[in-house]
Amino acid sequence: MAPRLGTVGPVGREPAYEIAPGVWRIPVMTDDAINAFAFVEDDGQVTLLDAGLPYTGRRVSAGLRHLGSDVSEVTRILVTHAHNDHAGGIARVVSASGAPVLAHGSDAGYLQAGRVPPIGPQTRARRAWEILGRYRAVPVSATVADGETVAGGLRAVHTPGHTPGHLSWLHEPTATLITGDAVHFYRGEVRIGMRLYCHDVALNERSAHRLGDLDYDAVGFTHGPEIRRGGRAALRAFLAARG
Ligand SMILES: [Zn+2]
Ligand SMILES: [Zn+2]
Repeated sequence: MAPRLGTVGPVGREPAYEIAPGVWRIPVMTDDAINAFAFVEDDGQVTLLDAGLPYTGRRVSAGLRHLGSDVSEVTRILVTHAHNDHAGGIARVVSASGAPVLAHGSDAGYLQAGRVPPIGPQTRARRAWEILGRYRAVPVSATVADGETVAGGLRAVHTPGHTPGHLSWLHEPTATLITGDAVHFYRGEVRIGMRLYCHDVALNERSAHRLGDLDYDAVGFTHGPEIRRGGRAALRAFLAARG
């Protein structure tokens, strides 16, 4: 999703939720509207996946503190895609931690320019959305390709369409899938990721079906609460219904 989304409330309820051992969801807005994720290893290394909007850094910091870390202690940063509701807060974390940033090559240029990729013809006023969606440039340290597993046991799954370089991430040690914006979980229902902000709606639909073929149980969504058990079955049922 991109750019304007409600308001940032106080850090209420829990600042982070452990959805599988060492896998944490950090809500950066109220109502689980946008999530970042953190993966904590036994040796204390922390991988941060996305970092919310440019102005939700306080929630990311609170989430990291909740799990015994700090924004200055992040070991590495992974990116789902070049939209400001996920990449907007990354520059701040890099400034505090010096952590390297890993993203797919097809989104790397947009991240480094602090811009969103072109939005498809399904949306009017595309140019306005692209201007509103600007964020602080993200210094990408290295690119990752589909199927590559990075330190921390996270495998990149290229699911293009929402953006050209959109990545879902599979945490192999706990069999937890983080979908990114390829699909969402909203009011108890799995849904296809926000059409309005898609680069290529048809390609995103095909990518979503790829997620049904992977091996996992828990599912974390960049928009919506997680499914801790039976996530694969829920996703496959949703995909089967779409044909
Ligand atoms: Zn989003
Ligand atoms: Zn998005």
